[in-house]
Amino acid sequence: MRNLAVILVISIVYSCTVQNKKPTTMNTAVKKTEAEWKAQLSEMEYEVLRNKGTERPFTGVYHDHFETGKYVCAGCGNDLFTSDTKFDSHCGWPSFDEAIKGSVIYKKDTSYGMERIEVMCAKCEGHLGHVFEDGPAETTGQRYCTNSVSIKFVPTAKK
Ligand code: FE
Repeated sequence: MRNLAVILVISIVYSCTVQNKKPTTMNTAVKKTEAEWKAQLSEMEYEVLRNKGTERPFTGVYHDHFETGKYVCAGCGNDLFTSDTKFDSHCGWPSFDEAIKGSVIYKKDTSYGMERIEVMCAKCEGHLGHVFEDGPAETTGQRYCTNSVSIKFVPTAKK
């Protein structure tokens, strides 16, 4: 009987430990099939977000857009950037010197004979763009070069 109690206690402790090891993002991760993404996104959004494509420079809606608000993921609505981190990089894509903490993940990208750091949405793993070290020296020095089609602007509500 005592052995049984010991086993019970060990198994309860073990199951709690296992539960605690689950990443906190697990509950909020957005997982969809390719067919579901295709049904939800426009052709261009799908090409960039899911196939890691790139919109042509100066063709997106946000490279020259400087209103006050935030930018969310076009795939899942995750808050990614705030307008106070946006700057005019003249590169033809919306550029930010910082992402909202925990909102993006990074991956080394060696495609096209270049070594770059890919930036993806932390929730749905949608491709956003790349981060470079040639951003404004007076702030972070980083440039999150982002496809307009990967993000959606949400203006700050006027009081
Ligand atoms: Fe997302």
